[in-house]
Amino acid sequence: MSTCAACSKTILFGGVAVGDVHYCSQQCVDKGPRKTSPAKPFVVVAWAVLALVATAVNFIIDLSLAPKGIPAGLAVSGSVGAVSVPYILAGILMFWKQHRNLHSFFRAAAIISVLLFFSYIGKVGQPVKG
Ligand SMILES: [Zn+2]
Repeated sequence: MSTCAACSKTILFGGVAVGDVHYCSQQCVDKGPRKTSPAKPFVVVAWAVLALVATAVNFIIDLSLAPKGIPAGLAVSGSVGAVSVPYILAGILMFWKQHRNLHSFFRAAAIISVLLFFSYIGKVGQPVKG
């Protein structure tokens, strides 16, 4: 249930969604004060590229942090698991109707991947003991 962005009426059934903004009718869409257009394709591509670049960087860092002496295959699969976490979390976000689009998916994956990257910087900065 949501409210119309133009007349604040509660929308029980139907309504018109423009991007993330909901209106009760097409008339309200036309006079809507908060009319937003859906994300432009290049914005989606930009988030997707950021997500993939952050993922690639995270993968390299995670792999370099793998304990020495463990089989290479195990280290690689462990790193793949670590860098895929943002995509799993972004996938969970899809359960919310207003986020069920590629823009939200890649934006979430990119933001979480960048946060993951910063968490790696903390680990890399620590002196290795032992
Ligand atoms: Zn309305």
